[in-house]
Amino acid sequence: MTPRGGVGPIAAQRARNAALRDQADALAAPHQPAARPLPVIVLPANTRETTPLPDETREQFLRHLRLQITRAFAAPLRDNTAPMSEEDEAMRADAGEIEGPSADSDALAVGAVLGAACATCRGECCTAGGTHAFLKAASLVRVRANLATSDGGSPSADAIEAHYAAALPARHYRGSCVFHATGGCTLARGLRSNLCNRYLCGALTQLTRAMAATGEASAFVAAADSVHLRRMALLSPEGARAIARP
Ligand code: SF4
Ligand code: SF4
Repeated sequence: MTPRGGVGPIAAQRARNAALRDQADALAAPHQPAARPLPVIVLPANTRETTPLPDETREQFLRHLRLQITRAFAAPLRDNTAPMSEEDEAMRADAGEIEGPSADSDALAVGAVLGAACATCRGECCTAGGTHAFLKAASLVRVRANLATSDGGSPSADAIEAHYAAALPARHYRGSCVFHATGGCTLARGLRSNLCNRYLCGALTQLTRAMAATGEASAFVAAADSVHLRRMALLSPEGARAIARP
């Protein structure tokens, strides 16, 4: 309900978002190429501090993982050399195990910019990963099949668990996914959940669309919490250049 004589919380957040967009545009302006301005996109921002990964958090994750591995082992071992369904092919391409149909140089360049955008945000979406890391049995069916192919034998449940246990960091962002550390996700892409490998937040979708619409391979991104603009960078396939904030 809108308070009498004031603005409601949604309208107030819209106004703050508009102010953040204006601030990002103003910071990008002196760096914009004269001929054709690059897109400017506001991203979320992870603002958490890191902390040692608590033993209880680690154990909760391993309990969740064991349950999902048990469920995955209830299905027959998938043969990765057999013809794949479209869904399996897409999942394995997303996990970086095979080249997907869109693995041309343009798609790889956009992929590099999206990765740099997530690094500027520092993984706000990963804060929802908690002690499950979005890992469900379907992801572990894929992981099991992939490890069987690369190891030349069927991996045991303990061997699969050991891959995940070895990837747990000593420190992670407080209260975030067990694998969420300052360098990004500590899990190899092939071990991440299908959801982690596919997910694009609204801001990344906006960035992808803006790059496609303008034909530009570069863009400005500003990572902001609900009130403050925290980081800003100019991204290109070559990397990220930080833009100073006042
Ligand atoms: S997908 Fe969006 S929320 Fe997640 S790390 Fe990337 S920019 Fe941040
Ligand atoms: S497993 Fe990695 S990508 Fe997935 S939520 Fe956790 S930190 Fe993020």
